[in-house]
Amino acid sequence: MKNNMKKNMENVEEIEEIEKRDKRDKFLFDAHTHLNFEEFSKGEREELAKEIDNSNLRYIIDAGCDLNSSILALENARKYKWCYAASGIHPEYAEKASDEMIDEIKMLAKDEKCVAIGEIGLDFHYGKDYKEEQIILFRKQLRLALEMELPIMIHSRDADQLTMDILKDEGVFAKKRIDKFSRDGDYPEAKVQLHCFSGSKELAMEYVKLGATISVGGPVTFKNGKKTAEVVRAIPIERLLSETDAPYLTPEPFRGKMNKSQYVEYVVRRIAILKDMEFEETALKLLENGIRFFGIK
Ligand SMILES: [Zn+2]
Repeated sequence: MKNNMKKNMENVEEIEEIEKRDKRDKFLFDAHTHLNFEEFSKGEREELAKEIDNSNLRYIIDAGCDLNSSILALENARKYKWCYAASGIHPEYAEKASDEMIDEIKMLAKDEKCVAIGEIGLDFHYGKDYKEEQIILFRKQLRLALEMELPIMIHSRDADQLTMDILKDEGVFAKKRIDKFSRDGDYPEAKVQLHCFSGSKELAMEYVKLGATISVGGPVTFKNGKKTAEVVRAIPIERLLSETDAPYLTPEPFRGKMNKSQYVEYVVRRIAILKDMEFEETALKLLENGIRFFGIK
């Protein structure tokens, strides 16, 4: 009985300690997630939101993939103070995309809680049969982002070189845009996020030189994630963002389960090890990068 009492008292102290920590340490940033995932019921989404409320997450960027998910992402962003939205049409939907849809994306992107155009890009792993449609859609949405002077969230799979060529060709790294976003004495800033980057170290370095930011998620924690680990080691921490791509790409040690934004912690822990930095220092740096990249006020 006595022992139990003592145990309970210890628990109370421990819970109070954790609660204090939670309030103080909202220092994680998930720069690409899908709280808008269409298979979540309203109840499930609210449950996930409650978990985020009680976690160490400060901000998440809820990325749209088509018109419906972009609308939902903005709804989430309006509802939760820690949520911001990206609006865009994923290359997977290139065949169904119309100019009217892009006009709708533009309307959504005018909202102050929409902080990027994305996710947009090229996917030649799944979309081999409609490459032309993907390229047209990608170019149109890049022009929208340039016109609106918004950050760009890129999805690129099995299309490394063409993605870079199109970004250059559309003027995403042009002096005008770099001058607009860069700060004196800092890295050139083009506000281009290479989401879940899977390219080589050399490609990452080339992107960084141009003014892009490399975003890494769960795969950096995988045993076969050596290529991404090399990328993280090679580029300055100022050019990195942490993300989950939840509900996909769950990091170790939860691989096999559904991914959640909170698990960005395990991505940050891995980045800290690769950069030979303290976890909290790394988290704060990545938080600062995210706030600055997306212009969160
Ligand atoms: Zn995604």
